[in-house]
Amino acid sequence: MLRLKRGRVRNHPWVFKGDVADVGEVEPGGVVAVVDSTGRFVGRGHYNPGPALCCRILSREDETIDIGFFRRRIERARTLRGDVPVESGRRLVWSEADGLPGLVVDIYAGTLVAQCLTLGMARARPEVLTALVDALGDRSLFWMDDTTAARREGFEPRRGWATAAGPPSTIIEEGAVRLRVTFGAGHKTGLYLDQRENRLRAAGLAPDRSVLDAFSAAAAFTCQALVSGARHALCLESSPEAIASAHDHLALNAVAERAEVRAVNAFDELRRLERERARFGLIVLDPPPFARGRDTVERAARGYKEINLRALRLLEPAGHLMTFSCSHHVSDAVFEEICREAAGDAGVSARVVAVLTQASDHPVLLEVPETRYLKGRLLQVL
Ligand code: SAH
Repeated sequence: MLRLKRGRVRNHPWVFKGDVADVGEVEPGGVVAVVDSTGRFVGRGHYNPGPALCCRILSREDETIDIGFFRRRIERARTLRGDVPVESGRRLVWSEADGLPGLVVDIYAGTLVAQCLTLGMARARPEVLTALVDALGDRSLFWMDDTTAARREGFEPRRGWATAAGPPSTIIEEGAVRLRVTFGAGHKTGLYLDQRENRLRAAGLAPDRSVLDAFSAAAAFTCQALVSGARHALCLESSPEAIASAHDHLALNAVAERAEVRAVNAFDELRRLERERARFGLIVLDPPPFARGRDTVERAARGYKEINLRALRLLEPAGHLMTFSCSHHVSDAVFEEICREAAGDAGVSARVVAVLTQASDHPVLLEVPETRYLKGRLLQVL
C-alpha cells in the first residue's frame, strides 16, 4: 500500500516521491493500492521506486489489475478510435489518455508497433499482448521501446517481434500519399503519426505554391504538399537516415523531380535563404524538442524565436507558416508569445488562422495537461 501525504490527492494519475508519506512492501514495477492520508482508497497504480515519478495510477476503481483490466482498457481505446481504415497508420493506445500510462500502441496497415515506457508496463507485456490479440485479432506486433524511458525506469528495452515475424516494412496510406514504415527503424514507432491531420491540412494549402519543409524528417509534409499540387518543395534535414527515407518517400509518391532535399543544419540554412531573399508560399517548421527540461526553456525559446522570425521573413505576401513545438515545457500560451515576438522582430503582421495540436488519435486528457505536447499555429502573413 502507498499512502499519500495530506493534501496530495489530485485528479491526476501521477504520484511523485514528494507526494508519498509511506509505502509498504511492493516490488519495483508491481501494482500498489494508493490511499490518501486518512486511508481512503484513491486508486491502483504501477510503482517504481527509481524515478521521481514513482507511481502512475491505472484505475481509480477498486478493481484488480489483471488480464481482464487490460482487455477492458484496450477494447475501450479501440472503440473510441472508431473504424481505422485497413491501409492507414493510427495510434490505438496512447498512455494516460487511454487509461494505460506507459503504453503506446500504433497500427500500420494492420501490423502493430508497441512501446513500454514504464517498468510496470514492461512487466505486464504478456497481459498487454494477450489483450491486444483478443481485441484486434491475431496479428504481428513489434516491440519498439524507447531507450531513454527504459533507462530512466530501469528495464531492458525490447526491439523486435513479440509474435511471429511480420514483414520488414509496410506502406500506409495517408490521404493521397503513401508512406513506408520499416519496423525497428525511424523515429518514434516508425513515423510521426501525431502530425497526420496537420499534414493533410498542409496539403490543402499547397496547390501551386513553393514549399519549404524545415526539419522535414522523412519528408511526409513535403509529399502531402507535392501530391496535392505544390510547384516545388525544399526539405531541410540533418539526419542521414531521415534523408534516405525522404528520398524513398519522394520516389514512392512520384514527386522526386519537384523536390530538393538539403542535408543541412536548418538554423544555418534558414539564415542563408533569408540572405538570398528566397520566397515561399507555404513553410512548415516542425523541429525536435528544444527544451528537454524546465531549465532549458529559455534557450529553447530563443531557438523557436529565431527559426520563426526567419520563416516569417521568407514568406510571400499572404503566405502560410505552419509552426510547431513539441517541447513539454513550452506551453501553448508561451509558444504563441514566442511567435508574436518573432513576428514583431521580423516586422510582419500575421493572422492566426488556426491553433494546431496533435492528431485526434493522440487525444489530450483534460486532467493531464502534459498530454497536450504538440503545440502549433497556422499563421498567414498580411
Ligand atoms: N515533420 C516531420 C517530423 C519532424 S521531426 C514529419 O511530419 O514526419 C524533427 C526532425 O528534425 C528530425 O528528423 C531531426 O533529424 C531533424 N533535425 C533536428 N535538428 C536539426 C537541425 N538542426 N537541422 C535540420 N534538421 C534537424
